[in-house]
Formats: sequence, structure tokens, C-alpha cells
Amino acid sequence: MSQYKHFETRAVRTQLPRTEQREHSAPIYATSSFVFDDAEQARALFAEEEEGNIYSRFSNPNNDEFIQKLCEMEGCEDGMAMASGMAAMFVSMAAFLEKGDHLLISRSIFGSTHQITTQLFPKWGIDYTYVDINKPQDWEKEIKKNTKMIFAETPSNPGLDIIDLEFLGKLAESHNLLLNIDNCFATPYLQTPAQYGAHLVTHSATKFIDGQGRVLGGAVLGSKEVMEKVHFLARHTGPALSPFNGWILSKSLETLAVRMEKHCQNALELAKYLEGNNHVNWVKYPFLNSYRKLELAKKQMKLGGGMVTFEVSGGLERGRKFLDSLKMISFSANLGDTRSIATHPASTTHSKLSHEDRLAVGITDGLIRISVGLEHVEDIITDIDQALIASF
Ligand SMILES: *Cc1c(COP(=O)(O)O)cnc(C)c1O
Repeated sequence: MSQYKHFETRAVRTQLPRTEQREHSAPIYATSSFVFDDAEQARALFAEEEEGNIYSRFSNPNNDEFIQKLCEMEGCEDGMAMASGMAAMFVSMAAFLEKGDHLLISRSIFGSTHQITTQLFPKWGIDYTYVDINKPQDWEKEIKKNTKMIFAETPSNPGLDIIDLEFLGKLAESHNLLLNIDNCFATPYLQTPAQYGAHLVTHSATKFIDGQGRVLGGAVLGSKEVMEKVHFLARHTGPALSPFNGWILSKSLETLAVRMEKHCQNALELAKYLEGNNHVNWVKYPFLNSYRKLELAKKQMKLGGGMVTFEVSGGLERGRKFLDSLKMISFSANLGDTRSIATHPASTTHSKLSHEDRLAVGITDGLIRISVGLEHVEDIITDIDQALIASF
């Protein structure tokens, strides 16, 4: 563990040892392999008796710096950088689940995680049950003899529902299950699932960790013991992060705290504005006083996060018109960027689901999701305000 007490200091000061060039910021190790000093060292490295770099599919200094830092921030022992968030989600599940195993997973889950669970795993004899994030009593009921892992995302996308991490941690412990939490929406600045007993903490680093819409990346973190299986699968299947992206993401973590403070401050102000707007049916934001699980949000999250969802009155057509009327806010599938981004799940990401299935995960026709960026909040509100009026 780091010698530094505070999150921000660890984020800034966890770094690779300086080379003889005396650089202040780590160089990019654009190398596919590393040279052995002698036959004995090569043997020891391959036998894993000695720690060190062999080949960038296994490890690379830039990715190591990124992961070391993220481990410090999440309170995890070990980790591995992945080429994308989905590589991280897939590897963190596939490393443990075997034919005949059962996965318990929250229903409001990222689209591609849903595809892995429902389309790929069944082909390999891995079964699953979806559980409602808002019905904690159902989780224990759905545990089967062959259940091996619980997987959940909190806050959920796009509904921004949350689940009690302490509850999930205890449930996993009492049934001897692995708990895997996708911590992408919260980031370690707001929430650290390992503290509640998550065995695996997974990230799409593409979102708030990069925070500037530049690179894809991901990470799987856990104890040294748990990570052995993750390292094995990833080393031999190759979802390695490029050193350049590792370098970018490590630099990005240095500013995560200040960026998240501002994202959260802007998001709360926007949520409050929307709550008072009569074109809006409802607003959801974890730190809003009207939030159904405000107490839980305040218990497990430092701030409410950078995402706000609301329902514009007038349904699907109004939702589409609203997006077409935005002048500054981007219309894009990404989130966690410096630039504010709006999405309309019912006509885009979740359009393939039936109306009923969308409602089951809380996606109404007029639901708009805003990833609140780092522009001045007044400009964000002005744009949303004029789009609400123009789409009326
Ligand atoms: C974006 C996202 C992912 C997938 O990450 P990629 O980097 O796009 O592969 C997984 N989970 C959540 C919650 C996400 O938002």
C-alpha cells in the first residue's frame, strides 16, 4: 500500500521509478517485448519466480503504472489492464465461470454485458438469472446450488438505481459466491466496492477514468489470489491494453478527483433545475433530496456522480425532438466526457427491446440521459432549457 494517506496524493504520486533520464512523467514504453539479461533470468521470469516484463501481452510498464494507481484508489491488491471495458467484463466472468455454473446478475446492465450473459454464456453451458436491482429480497431467493458469481452495476444505466453494496457483500460471503461489481459509473473517487467485500472490481476506463473521450480501456481488480485466474485467461487470449492507452489512462487518474468533483457539482445543479421545470415529469439523481434511496446513496457514494436522467413529457416523439433541438450538448453513445452528452435510450441503445422490456428496466419513452460534462453549468442548463421549449 502507498505511503500516502489521501486518494488525491496517491493518484498523483503513484508512478514508475525514474529512469536515468530523470523524467518527471513516465515515458511511453512502446515495445512489444523485453530483453533478458541471461538464460537464468529468462527461466526465472517464465517460471514466475521473478517478477518482471517479458512481453507486452502479459505486462508493460505503462499499464502497470495505470493499474498500480487504480489499485491504490480502489483498495485492491492486484489488477490487470484490458483493451476495453468489455474485455474487462468478459475476462472477469469467463475466468471463473465454467460449464454448469450459474450467474446471478442485475437486470439493468450494460448492453454488451447483457449480450455476453444471454447470447454467449448459454452456448458454453453457463446459466444466468436476472434480478431486479430494486428488489434486494429477490437476490437470495434466486441463488441456486450451482451459483458461482454475483454481477452488478451500481448506479445502473440509464435508470440510475442503486443497490446496497454492503448487502451484496454479505450475501456473497454467506453463500460463498464471487461478487463482481462494474464500478464504471461511480469511479473509485465516489465508491469503492472492495471495501464492502467485492472480490472483483471491473471498469470501463473509457468513461470517467479517461474522462476526455480519447481512448478505450478497461481494468479488472481483485486480490492476488483472485487475479491469478484473470491473468491466466488474459495472458493467453490477448485482450491487452496498448501501452499508449495505459499511459493516457494513468495520466487521467491524476485528475480524476478534481474532475469528478466538478462533474458531480454540475450534475446536481442540473438535476435541481430540471426538478423545477414543468416540461419534465421526473428527475433522477442519487444525491437529489427526492431520490428514493438517498440515505443509501449517501452511505456508499461520496457524491452523486456525473449522470442525470429525466423524463420529458410527450413521450418518444418529444424525446427525439428534444435531442434534435440541442445546440451545444453532444448527441453520442459515450459518457463520462468533458463534453456533456445526451442520449435517448428508447430510440437508440434500447430500441431493440420491446416496450414492456424497456419499462421493466425503467426506460420510459421520454427518458433522457445526460452525461454532465465540465462546461459551465449555466451553459449546460441554457441549452437544455431552449431544447425543452423548442421541442414542445
Ligand atoms: C461503457 C461501459 C462498459 C463497456 O466499456 P467499453 O470500454 O465501451 O468496452 C461496461 N460497463 C458500463 C457500465 C459502461 O458504461
